[in-house]
Amino acid sequence: MANNKKKKKPIKVSVGVSWIYIILLLGIAWMFFNQSGGNPQKEEWADVQAQWLAGDIKEITFIRNEYEGHVTIKPERIEKYSDKFGGNIPKKSPHFIFLVSGSFNAEEMFGQLNAQLPENAAVKVVIESKENYWGFLEWIIFPLLLLVMWFFMFRGMNRNMGGGAGGPGGIFNVGKSTGKLAEKDSIKVTFKDVAGLYGAKEEVMEIVDFLKNPKKYTALGGKIPKGALLVGPPGTGKTLLAKAVAGEANVPFFSISGSDFVEMFVGVGASRVRDLFRQAKEKSPCIVFIDEIDAVGRARSKNAGFSSNDERENTLNQLLTEMDGFDSNSGVIILAATNRADILDKALLRAGRFDRQIHVELPDLKEREEIFNVHLKGLKLADDFNLEFLAKHTPGFSGADIANVCNEAALTAARRNKTLIDKQDFLDAVDRIIGGLERKSKIITPQEKKSIAHHEAGHATVSWLLPNANPLFKVTIVPRGQALGAAWYLPEERQLVTKDQMMDEMCSLIGGRVAEEIVNGQPSTGALNDLERLTKMAYGMVTFYGMSEKIGNLSFYDSTGARGYDLTKPYSEKTAELIDQEVKGLINEIHDKTLRILTEHREGFLELAALLLDKEVIFAEDLERIFGPRAGAATQQPTETVAEPSLSE
Ligand code: ADP
Repeated sequence: MANNKKKKKPIKVSVGVSWIYIILLLGIAWMFFNQSGGNPQKEEWADVQAQWLAGDIKEITFIRNEYEGHVTIKPERIEKYSDKFGGNIPKKSPHFIFLVSGSFNAEEMFGQLNAQLPENAAVKVVIESKENYWGFLEWIIFPLLLLVMWFFMFRGMNRNMGGGAGGPGGIFNVGKSTGKLAEKDSIKVTFKDVAGLYGAKEEVMEIVDFLKNPKKYTALGGKIPKGALLVGPPGTGKTLLAKAVAGEANVPFFSISGSDFVEMFVGVGASRVRDLFRQAKEKSPCIVFIDEIDAVGRARSKNAGFSSNDERENTLNQLLTEMDGFDSNSGVIILAATNRADILDKALLRAGRFDRQIHVELPDLKEREEIFNVHLKGLKLADDFNLEFLAKHTPGFSGADIANVCNEAALTAARRNKTLIDKQDFLDAVDRIIGGLERKSKIITPQEKKSIAHHEAGHATVSWLLPNANPLFKVTIVPRGQALGAAWYLPEERQLVTKDQMMDEMCSLIGGRVAEEIVNGQPSTGALNDLERLTKMAYGMVTFYGMSEKIGNLSFYDSTGARGYDLTKPYSEKTAELIDQEVKGLINEIHDKTLRILTEHREGFLELAALLLDKEVIFAEDLERIFGPRAGAATQQPTETVAEPSLSE
């Protein structure tokens, strides 16, 4: 880290940028105002002749090549011309300047005039040609000053933008790619480090093969794909996978984020794209990885001017052109990652560009076990550690979340001065990642605590008694993150959700609010989060999933994302009213059902709330003791996943 080499300490001359501005401005001001007294006045030649003959002129300098004469008046006569200077007589000569035409014969004219004066009163005449160095310098100095100012301004700006954008070279590097290059032998990541993701791995393995023996494919006339798009939620290992491809193929790896192309200067994005491809071609064979490609690759808007960002579109166009432009056998493979493939421009996805889409999904149970295994390496585990149990308790966790759990568990154990990390440390780490940090110090009145206990017991009771709701795992009234209490569920890992399941889910969501109504007789603000989710689900059922009879099998879902900027609805006012009615009806139905359940099991529900108030954290076993085994529990079959770990606050 520290550089031990002895270096001569450079003499530091620190000149603040603002000082440079001030000096420059002063310099310019000096140039303009460096005249004491007034300026020389323009005069007609005829008037100068009159002055001559009147004997007022002391000296005349005529500059032949500029057809310009400079007149100096005798000091004792200058007062006479005070009017011409508006009272502000120049202290320096010349006092008057006159211009003449090309045919003016100075020698002859001046001779004639002097001849008319007495000999001792003759005007001193100087006729010369001027080498105008100053005029030349003016041309150089002003543009130079402007350039210097411009340079400093941009340097300051670049620094303000975080420096990294322009790089250490400041403005002159702004169009250079800001991508990071990892040389081929420096990448230590291989497929062994990527757990799970079988499908994705298989597809990218093919890319490794392309890079290793391109001839095998090109010999038959085939073309090696130029790019592949890794699509999946954040933290699922897209970057890791791309790095592993480079590591396996032992080629250099360029990585850049889509947002790095976007800069405040017009044309910079496009020039960075060009630079990136130029560098990549020099290092071929290599992998270029563009993270978050949606930052530049978003579909170009049709209604230009309203929401369009020309700079981004130019960058995208350049990217498209570059991808077309390089030879598919040049050995450069572009991998890009996004979690929103649906909003990408179609031109980006067509054959010859990112013609392959590789889906990187959240890991299922078995994959989670494997990812845990990767990240448990090097951790000291206690005997009670159970990998399968942990994988089961982390549905919807991404690879990054799992890596985080492992690290968090180690830190928690260390904080508790343990020598080994046990199951509880892991569970606490999971809780912390889902719900945020426990906030035991938060001040809650006993009355509020009671209310929270009833609210959470409401969620728990309803979800326990409805067969299709998510199975409850634990309930707590310890404040954590933003939440005052939480019911934690272990959702089944399922691909499809039926209407019944959604309805039961919504009943358990509204359970907290209904419990407050039963016990306190009035609602509180504690149900905000539940109601928000409930409303979204209800509108989703009616407008997206065609689950309402009156609206029928219509879906106003827009998978292209292009309608995001539309201000109009894709349906009539009448339908809008109907939708609102249907949603209201649905919520009323759910509310009534929940109220019925809670009143029917009022005793159990109150017992649960009392237990919760007493213990602060209760588990599924406690509910089983009060209400008996859960209906439908046996039918749960953990299948493959897109379930989110869910909790209702
Ligand atoms: P993404 O690019 O999809 O947002 P990353 O590749 O940056 O995600 O993943 C972040 C971290 O999560 C990785 O550095 C790694 O520690 C961990 N991770 C994610 N997926 C996996 C996986 N399948 N196997 C092992 N570790 C993973």
